[in-house]
Amino acid sequence: MDHFALKDGVLHAEDIPLPRIAEEVGTPVYVYSRATLERHAKVFADGLSSVPRKLIAFAVKANPNLAVLKVLQNQGFGADVVSGGELMRALAAGMTPDTIVFSGVGKTREELILGLDRQIGQFNIESREEGRELAELAAQRGQQAQACLRINPDVDAKTHEKISTGKAENKFGIPLVHAREAFAELASLDGINLRGVAVHIGSQLGDLEPLETAFGKLATLIADLRAAGHAITHVDLGGGLGVPYKVGENPPSPAEYGAMVARVTGDWDVHLTFEPGRVIAGNAGVLLTKVIRVKRGGNGPPFVIVDAAMNDLARPALYGAWHDCDAVVPSGERMTANIVGPICETGDTFARDRDCDALQSGDLAVFRTAGAYGATMASSYNSRGFVPEVLVDGDRYAVVAERLSADAIMSAEPVPDWL
Ligand SMILES: *Cc1c(COP(=O)(O)O)cnc(C)c1O
Repeated sequence: MDHFALKDGVLHAEDIPLPRIAEEVGTPVYVYSRATLERHAKVFADGLSSVPRKLIAFAVKANPNLAVLKVLQNQGFGADVVSGGELMRALAAGMTPDTIVFSGVGKTREELILGLDRQIGQFNIESREEGRELAELAAQRGQQAQACLRINPDVDAKTHEKISTGKAENKFGIPLVHAREAFAELASLDGINLRGVAVHIGSQLGDLEPLETAFGKLATLIADLRAAGHAITHVDLGGGLGVPYKVGENPPSPAEYGAMVARVTGDWDVHLTFEPGRVIAGNAGVLLTKVIRVKRGGNGPPFVIVDAAMNDLARPALYGAWHDCDAVVPSGERMTANIVGPICETGDTFARDRDCDALQSGDLAVFRTAGAYGATMASSYNSRGFVPEVLVDGDRYAVVAERLSADAIMSAEPVPDWL
Protein backbone atom coordinates (compact mmCIF):
# COMPACT_ATOMS: atom_id res chain seq x y z
CA MET A 1 0.00 0.00 0.00
CA ASP A 2 1.23 3.50 -0.76
CA HIS A 3 0.11 7.10 -0.42
CA PHE A 4 0.02 8.07 -4.10
CA ALA A 5 -3.65 8.30 -5.01
CA LEU A 6 -6.14 10.31 -7.01
CA LYS A 7 -8.05 13.01 -5.15
CA ASP A 8 -10.65 14.91 -7.15
CA GLY A 9 -9.12 13.53 -10.32
CA VAL A 10 -5.57 14.67 -9.52
CA LEU A 11 -2.76 12.36 -8.42
CA HIS A 12 -1.46 13.33 -4.99
CA ALA A 13 1.51 12.31 -2.89
CA GLU A 14 -0.19 12.19 0.51
CA ASP A 15 -1.94 15.62 0.61
CA ILE A 16 0.21 17.34 -2.00
CA PRO A 17 -1.09 17.52 -5.57
CA LEU A 18 1.72 16.47 -7.90
CA PRO A 19 1.12 19.39 -10.31
CA ARG A 20 2.21 21.68 -7.49
CA ILE A 21 5.57 19.95 -7.17
CA ALA A 22 6.01 19.97 -10.96
CA GLU A 23 5.28 23.69 -10.97
CA GLU A 24 7.51 24.61 -8.04
CA VAL A 25 10.44 22.20 -8.44
CA GLY A 26 10.25 21.36 -12.14
CA THR A 27 10.35 17.98 -13.86
CA PRO A 28 11.66 15.36 -13.92
CA VAL A 29 11.67 14.93 -10.15
CA TYR A 30 11.51 12.01 -7.73
CA VAL A 31 8.74 12.29 -5.14
CA TYR A 32 8.86 10.20 -1.96
CA SER A 33 6.13 9.73 0.62
CA ARG A 34 7.20 9.74 4.25
CA ALA A 35 4.00 7.99 5.37
CA THR A 36 4.65 5.20 2.88
CA LEU A 37 8.26 4.73 4.00
CA GLU A 38 7.11 4.60 7.60
CA ARG A 39 4.32 2.19 6.81
CA HIS A 40 6.65 -0.16 4.95
CA ALA A 41 9.18 0.00 7.78
CA LYS A 42 6.49 -0.84 10.29
CA VAL A 43 5.00 -3.68 8.23
CA PHE A 44 8.45 -5.19 7.79
CA ALA A 45 9.27 -4.92 11.50
CA ASP A 46 5.83 -6.31 12.43
CA GLY A 47 6.44 -9.30 10.15
CA LEU A 48 9.50 -10.09 12.25
CA SER A 49 7.91 -9.43 15.63
CA SER A 50 8.45 -13.02 16.72
CA VAL A 51 12.21 -12.75 16.18
CA PRO A 52 13.51 -11.80 19.63
CA ARG A 53 16.98 -10.36 18.90
CA LYS A 54 17.42 -8.52 15.64
CA LEU A 55 18.70 -5.54 13.69
CA ILE A 56 16.90 -4.28 10.62
CA ALA A 57 19.54 -2.55 8.51
CA PHE A 58 18.16 -0.67 5.51
CA ALA A 59 20.14 -1.41 2.34
CA VAL A 60 21.34 2.13 1.69
CA LYS A 61 22.08 1.45 -1.96
CA ALA A 62 18.33 1.18 -2.64
CA ASN A 63 17.81 4.82 -1.68
CA PRO A 64 20.70 6.69 -0.08
CA ASN A 65 18.96 10.05 0.20
CA LEU A 66 19.80 11.52 3.62
CA ALA A 67 16.21 12.52 4.40
CA VAL A 68 14.99 9.02 3.51
CA LEU A 69 17.68 7.50 5.72
CA LYS A 70 16.62 9.85 8.52
CA VAL A 71 12.99 8.68 8.24
CA LEU A 72 14.15 5.08 8.58
CA GLN A 73 16.57 5.87 11.38
CA ASN A 74 13.59 7.31 13.26
CA GLN A 75 11.90 3.94 12.78
CA GLY A 76 14.79 2.22 14.53
CA PHE A 77 16.49 0.97 11.39
CA GLY A 78 20.24 0.65 11.01
CA ALA A 79 22.05 0.58 7.69
CA ASP A 80 23.58 -1.98 5.37
CA VAL A 81 26.29 -0.14 3.44
CA VAL A 82 28.44 -1.23 0.52
CA SER A 83 30.91 1.66 0.25
CA GLY A 84 32.67 4.28 2.33
CA GLY A 85 30.33 6.87 0.85
CA GLU A 86 27.27 4.97 2.05
CA LEU A 87 28.87 4.51 5.45
CA MET A 88 29.30 8.29 5.80
CA ARG A 89 25.69 8.82 4.69
CA ALA A 90 24.37 6.41 7.31
CA LEU A 91 26.33 8.23 10.01
CA ALA A 92 25.22 11.62 8.69
CA ALA A 93 21.61 10.44 8.89
CA GLY A 94 22.10 9.69 12.58
CA MET A 95 22.47 5.93 12.44
CA THR A 96 24.75 4.84 15.25
CA PRO A 97 27.90 2.89 14.31
CA ASP A 98 26.72 -0.26 16.09
CA THR A 99 23.70 -0.42 13.73
CA ILE A 100 25.84 -0.28 10.58
CA VAL A 101 26.76 -3.41 8.61
CA PHE A 102 29.39 -3.16 5.89
CA SER A 103 28.78 -5.56 2.97
CA GLY A 104 30.35 -5.78 -0.46
CA VAL A 105 32.87 -7.85 -2.34
CA GLY A 106 35.40 -5.10 -3.00
CA LYS A 107 35.90 -3.04 0.15
CA THR A 108 39.16 -1.16 -0.28
CA ARG A 109 41.82 -0.86 2.39
CA GLU A 110 40.70 2.73 2.98
CA GLU A 111 37.10 1.61 3.40
CA LEU A 112 38.07 -1.13 5.86
CA ILE A 113 40.02 1.45 7.85
CA LEU A 114 37.06 3.84 7.77
CA GLY A 115 34.80 1.11 9.14
CA LEU A 116 37.31 0.35 11.89
CA ASP A 117 37.82 4.02 12.76
CA ARG A 118 34.07 4.50 13.07
CA GLN A 119 33.74 1.22 15.00
CA ILE A 120 30.84 -0.07 12.95
CA GLY A 121 28.75 -2.95 14.24
CA GLN A 122 29.63 -5.58 11.67
CA PHE A 123 31.77 -6.32 8.64
CA ASN A 124 30.44 -8.98 6.30
CA ILE A 125 33.59 -10.57 4.92
CA GLU A 126 33.34 -11.88 1.37
CA SER A 127 36.69 -13.63 0.91
CA ARG A 128 39.59 -15.05 2.86
CA GLU A 129 41.79 -12.34 1.37
CA GLU A 130 39.52 -9.60 2.67
CA GLY A 131 39.28 -11.27 6.08
CA ARG A 132 43.07 -11.42 6.43
CA GLU A 133 43.43 -7.78 5.45
CA LEU A 134 40.72 -6.69 7.87
CA ALA A 135 42.29 -8.74 10.68
CA GLU A 136 45.69 -7.21 10.06
CA LEU A 137 44.38 -3.63 9.95
CA ALA A 138 42.32 -4.15 13.09
CA ALA A 139 45.18 -5.77 14.99
CA GLN A 140 47.48 -2.85 14.06
CA ARG A 141 44.94 -0.57 15.70
CA GLY A 142 44.50 -2.78 18.72
CA GLN A 143 40.90 -3.42 17.69
CA GLN A 144 38.69 -6.45 17.20
CA ALA A 145 36.49 -6.14 14.15
CA GLN A 146 33.05 -7.66 14.63
CA ALA A 147 32.45 -9.81 11.57
CA CYS A 148 30.35 -12.41 9.80
CA LEU A 149 31.45 -14.55 6.88
CA ARG A 150 29.27 -14.15 3.80
CA ILE A 151 28.42 -17.50 2.31
CA ASN A 152 27.54 -18.19 -1.31
CA PRO A 153 24.91 -20.91 -0.89
CA ASP A 154 24.64 -21.66 -4.63
CA VAL A 155 20.89 -21.28 -4.91
CA ASP A 156 19.01 -19.86 -7.85
CA ALA A 157 17.03 -16.88 -6.55
CA LYS A 158 14.87 -16.99 -9.72
CA THR A 159 15.24 -13.29 -10.36
CA HIS A 160 16.87 -11.18 -13.08
CA GLU A 161 20.40 -12.48 -13.74
CA LYS A 162 21.96 -9.08 -13.05
CA ILE A 163 20.56 -8.94 -9.52
CA SER A 164 21.08 -12.59 -8.64
CA THR A 165 23.93 -12.89 -6.11
CA GLY A 166 23.77 -16.35 -4.56
CA LYS A 167 24.72 -18.70 -7.39
CA ALA A 168 28.13 -20.38 -7.49
CA GLU A 169 29.19 -18.36 -10.55
CA ASN A 170 28.37 -15.02 -8.87
CA LYS A 171 31.22 -13.01 -7.35
CA PHE A 172 29.65 -12.81 -3.88
CA GLY A 173 30.48 -14.73 -0.72
CA ILE A 174 32.51 -17.83 0.03
CA PRO A 175 31.37 -21.08 -1.59
CA LEU A 176 29.68 -23.32 0.93
CA VAL A 177 32.18 -26.11 0.33
CA HIS A 178 35.04 -23.85 1.47
CA ALA A 179 33.13 -22.16 4.28
CA ARG A 180 34.26 -24.35 7.18
CA GLU A 181 37.92 -24.07 6.30
CA ALA A 182 37.71 -20.32 5.65
CA PHE A 183 35.82 -19.78 8.88
CA ALA A 184 38.40 -21.72 10.88
CA GLU A 185 41.27 -19.74 9.40
CA LEU A 186 39.73 -16.30 9.85
CA ALA A 187 38.34 -17.07 13.31
CA SER A 188 41.89 -17.85 14.47
CA LEU A 189 43.22 -14.40 13.55
CA ASP A 190 43.80 -11.63 16.05
CA GLY A 191 41.85 -8.56 15.09
CA ILE A 192 38.62 -10.33 14.13
CA ASN A 193 35.76 -11.59 16.21
CA LEU A 194 34.18 -13.86 13.62
CA ARG A 195 30.82 -14.34 15.25
CA GLY A 196 28.62 -15.72 12.52
CA VAL A 197 27.61 -16.04 8.90
CA ALA A 198 25.73 -13.95 6.33
CA VAL A 199 23.84 -14.61 3.14
CA HIS A 200 22.13 -12.47 0.48
CA ILE A 201 21.00 -14.32 -2.63
CA GLY A 202 19.55 -11.58 -4.77
CA SER A 203 16.95 -8.88 -5.18
CA GLN A 204 13.33 -8.63 -6.32
CA LEU A 205 12.60 -12.19 -5.15
CA GLY A 206 9.07 -13.27 -6.00
CA ASP A 207 9.18 -16.52 -4.09
CA LEU A 208 10.26 -17.53 -0.59
CA GLU A 209 11.45 -20.96 -1.61
CA PRO A 210 15.01 -20.00 -2.70
CA LEU A 211 15.44 -17.99 0.51
CA GLU A 212 14.27 -20.92 2.59
CA THR A 213 16.66 -23.22 0.75
CA ALA A 214 19.54 -20.82 1.41
CA PHE A 215 18.61 -20.46 5.09
CA GLY A 216 18.40 -24.25 5.35
CA LYS A 217 21.96 -24.56 4.05
CA LEU A 218 23.03 -21.96 6.61
CA ALA A 219 21.40 -24.02 9.36
CA THR A 220 23.54 -27.02 8.46
CA LEU A 221 26.65 -24.86 8.29
CA ILE A 222 25.92 -23.27 11.67
CA ALA A 223 25.56 -26.72 13.25
CA ASP A 224 28.84 -27.84 11.68
CA LEU A 225 30.67 -24.70 12.80
CA ARG A 226 29.37 -25.09 16.34
CA ALA A 227 30.39 -28.74 16.33
CA ALA A 228 33.88 -27.56 15.36
CA GLY A 229 33.93 -25.36 18.46
CA HIS A 230 33.03 -21.97 17.00
CA ALA A 231 30.64 -19.66 18.85
CA ILE A 232 27.98 -18.58 16.36
CA THR A 233 26.00 -15.73 17.86
CA HIS A 234 25.05 -13.64 14.80
CA VAL A 235 23.46 -14.49 11.46
CA ASP A 236 22.71 -11.99 8.70
CA LEU A 237 19.89 -13.07 6.39
CA GLY A 238 20.33 -10.25 3.84
CA GLY A 239 17.51 -8.61 1.92
CA GLY A 240 15.86 -9.36 -1.38
CA LEU A 241 12.11 -9.38 -0.81
CA GLY A 242 10.38 -8.32 -4.03
CA VAL A 243 7.72 -5.68 -4.58
CA PRO A 244 4.83 -5.58 -7.07
CA TYR A 245 5.77 -3.48 -10.10
CA LYS A 246 2.53 -4.22 -11.92
CA VAL A 247 -0.96 -5.48 -11.35
CA GLY A 248 -1.05 -9.22 -10.83
CA GLU A 249 2.42 -9.48 -9.31
CA ASN A 250 2.11 -10.90 -5.82
CA PRO A 251 5.48 -11.20 -4.12
CA PRO A 252 5.47 -12.68 -0.63
CA SER A 253 4.43 -10.24 2.07
CA PRO A 254 6.71 -9.27 4.95
CA ALA A 255 4.33 -11.24 7.20
CA GLU A 256 4.80 -14.41 5.12
CA TYR A 257 8.55 -13.78 5.00
CA GLY A 258 8.63 -13.27 8.77
CA ALA A 259 6.68 -16.46 9.39
CA MET A 260 9.12 -18.42 7.23
CA VAL A 261 12.11 -16.86 9.00
CA ALA A 262 10.62 -17.66 12.41
CA ARG A 263 9.94 -21.26 11.40
CA VAL A 264 13.40 -21.87 9.90
CA THR A 265 15.50 -20.00 12.47
CA GLY A 266 13.44 -20.69 15.59
CA ASP A 267 16.08 -22.90 17.23
CA TRP A 268 19.19 -21.10 16.02
CA ASP A 269 19.63 -19.06 19.19
CA VAL A 270 21.32 -16.15 17.41
CA HIS A 271 20.93 -12.41 16.86
CA LEU A 272 19.52 -11.93 13.34
CA THR A 273 20.24 -9.10 10.93
CA PHE A 274 17.97 -8.21 8.00
CA GLU A 275 18.93 -5.96 5.09
CA PRO A 276 15.74 -4.93 3.26
CA GLY A 277 16.01 -2.26 0.59
CA ARG A 278 13.50 -2.40 -2.23
CA VAL A 279 10.59 -3.62 -0.09
CA ILE A 280 10.92 -0.51 2.09
CA ALA A 281 11.56 2.16 -0.52
CA GLY A 282 10.30 0.85 -3.88
CA ASN A 283 6.65 1.81 -3.68
CA ALA A 284 7.37 4.88 -1.55
CA GLY A 285 8.51 6.89 -4.56
CA VAL A 286 7.46 7.95 -8.05
CA LEU A 287 9.32 9.69 -10.83
CA LEU A 288 7.24 12.68 -11.91
CA THR A 289 7.73 13.68 -15.53
CA LYS A 290 6.20 15.88 -18.20
CA VAL A 291 5.33 14.91 -21.76
CA ILE A 292 7.50 16.93 -24.16
CA ARG A 293 5.54 15.90 -27.21
CA VAL A 294 3.83 12.97 -28.85
CA LYS A 295 5.43 11.83 -32.08
CA ARG A 296 3.15 10.04 -34.50
CA GLY A 297 3.42 8.65 -37.99
CA GLY A 298 5.86 5.80 -37.48
CA ASN A 299 5.16 2.14 -38.04
CA GLY A 300 3.85 1.35 -34.59
CA PRO A 301 2.16 3.16 -31.75
CA PRO A 302 2.98 6.84 -31.14
CA PHE A 303 6.10 7.77 -29.19
CA VAL A 304 5.19 9.60 -26.01
CA ILE A 305 8.41 11.52 -25.37
CA VAL A 306 8.75 12.47 -21.70
CA ASP A 307 11.34 14.69 -20.03
CA ALA A 308 12.61 11.87 -17.80
CA ALA A 309 15.14 9.53 -19.35
CA MET A 310 17.30 6.48 -18.77
CA ASN A 311 19.84 8.66 -16.94
CA ASP A 312 17.17 9.47 -14.32
CA LEU A 313 15.64 5.99 -14.04
CA ALA A 314 17.96 3.30 -15.38
CA ARG A 315 16.04 0.15 -14.49
CA PRO A 316 14.14 -0.26 -17.76
CA ALA A 317 17.35 0.15 -19.79
CA LEU A 318 19.43 -1.98 -17.39
CA TYR A 319 17.07 -4.82 -16.61
CA GLY A 320 14.18 -4.43 -19.03
CA ALA A 321 12.21 -3.52 -15.90
CA TRP A 322 8.55 -2.55 -15.92
CA HIS A 323 7.33 0.65 -14.27
CA ASP A 324 3.65 1.52 -14.37
CA CYS A 325 3.09 4.85 -16.06
CA ASP A 326 0.00 6.87 -15.09
CA ALA A 327 -1.26 10.31 -15.97
CA VAL A 328 -1.32 12.78 -13.08
CA VAL A 329 -4.68 14.11 -14.27
CA PRO A 330 -6.18 11.16 -16.16
CA SER A 331 -8.85 12.00 -18.71
CA GLY A 332 -10.35 8.53 -18.66
CA GLU A 333 -9.16 7.89 -22.21
CA ARG A 334 -6.57 5.22 -22.91
CA MET A 335 -3.91 4.84 -25.58
CA THR A 336 -1.26 2.37 -26.70
CA ALA A 337 2.13 4.06 -26.66
CA ASN A 338 5.87 3.68 -26.74
CA ILE A 339 7.01 5.79 -23.80
CA VAL A 340 10.53 7.10 -24.31
CA GLY A 341 12.95 9.71 -23.01
CA PRO A 342 14.93 12.25 -25.03
CA ILE A 343 18.32 10.49 -24.80
CA CYS A 344 20.03 9.47 -28.02
CA GLU A 345 19.86 5.73 -27.45
CA THR A 346 17.12 3.29 -28.30
CA GLY A 347 17.66 1.85 -24.81
CA ASP A 348 16.04 5.03 -23.50
CA THR A 349 12.65 3.36 -23.61
CA PHE A 350 10.40 3.09 -20.56
CA ALA A 351 7.64 1.06 -22.18
CA ARG A 352 6.78 -0.48 -25.54
CA ASP A 353 3.27 -1.02 -26.84
CA ARG A 354 2.00 0.02 -23.42
CA ASP A 355 -1.70 0.37 -22.75
CA CYS A 356 -1.74 3.51 -20.59
CA ASP A 357 -3.64 6.69 -19.79
CA ALA A 358 -3.94 8.91 -22.85
CA LEU A 359 -1.13 11.46 -22.76
CA GLN A 360 -0.47 14.55 -24.80
CA SER A 361 2.09 17.31 -24.98
CA GLY A 362 2.40 19.14 -21.63
CA ASP A 363 0.69 16.44 -19.56
CA LEU A 364 2.24 15.21 -16.33
CA ALA A 365 2.78 11.52 -15.68
CA VAL A 366 4.47 9.32 -13.10
CA PHE A 367 6.53 6.19 -13.26
CA ARG A 368 5.57 4.26 -10.17
CA THR A 369 7.64 2.09 -7.85
CA ALA A 370 10.65 4.32 -8.40
CA GLY A 371 11.65 4.84 -4.78
CA ALA A 372 14.30 2.09 -4.84
CA TYR A 373 17.16 1.84 -7.33
CA GLY A 374 15.86 5.03 -8.96
CA ALA A 375 17.56 8.33 -8.19
CA THR A 376 20.52 6.47 -6.74
CA MET A 377 21.37 5.06 -10.17
CA ALA A 378 21.00 8.40 -11.94
CA SER A 379 23.77 9.79 -14.11
CA SER A 380 24.22 12.98 -16.09
CA TYR A 381 24.42 11.18 -19.44
CA ASN A 382 23.71 13.49 -22.37
CA SER A 383 24.67 16.35 -20.00
CA ARG A 384 21.20 16.34 -18.53
CA GLY A 385 22.16 17.14 -14.96
CA PHE A 386 21.09 15.15 -11.89
CA VAL A 387 17.42 14.69 -11.11
CA PRO A 388 16.14 16.31 -7.85
CA GLU A 389 14.25 14.53 -5.08
CA VAL A 390 11.33 15.68 -2.93
CA LEU A 391 9.98 14.23 0.32
CA VAL A 392 6.29 14.74 1.07
CA ASP A 393 4.98 14.66 4.63
CA GLY A 394 1.22 15.16 4.81
CA ASP A 395 0.46 18.62 3.47
CA ARG A 396 4.07 19.78 3.34
CA TYR A 397 7.05 18.83 1.26
CA ALA A 398 10.74 19.62 1.01
CA VAL A 399 13.34 19.35 -1.72
CA VAL A 400 15.70 16.75 -0.25
CA ALA A 401 18.11 16.64 -3.20
CA GLU A 402 18.56 19.66 -5.38
CA ARG A 403 18.72 19.45 -9.12
CA LEU A 404 22.39 19.44 -10.07
CA SER A 405 22.42 21.39 -13.29
CA ALA A 406 24.50 20.59 -16.33
CA ASP A 407 26.27 23.90 -15.66
CA ALA A 408 27.19 22.88 -12.10
CA ILE A 409 28.62 19.62 -13.37
CA MET A 410 30.55 21.42 -16.12
CA SER A 411 32.04 23.83 -13.58
CA ALA A 412 33.70 20.85 -11.85
CA GLU A 413 35.62 20.03 -15.06
CA PRO A 414 38.82 22.03 -15.20
CA VAL A 415 40.37 22.25 -18.63
CA PRO A 416 44.18 22.32 -18.33
CA ASP A 417 45.72 25.63 -19.41
CA TRP A 418 48.05 23.74 -21.78
CA LEU A 419 45.14 23.05 -24.06
C1 LIG B 1 21.40 -4.92 -2.46
C2 LIG B 1 21.60 -5.63 -1.18
C3 LIG B 1 20.56 -5.72 -0.25
C4 LIG B 1 19.17 -5.18 -0.51
O1 LIG B 1 18.47 -5.89 -1.46
P1 LIG B 1 16.91 -5.57 -1.69
O2 LIG B 1 16.52 -6.49 -2.77
O3 LIG B 1 16.81 -4.15 -2.09
O4 LIG B 1 16.22 -5.86 -0.41
C5 LIG B 1 20.81 -6.34 0.96
N1 LIG B 1 22.03 -6.86 1.25
C6 LIG B 1 23.06 -6.79 0.37
C7 LIG B 1 24.36 -7.37 0.76
C8 LIG B 1 22.88 -6.18 -0.86
O5 LIG B 1 23.89 -6.13 -1.73
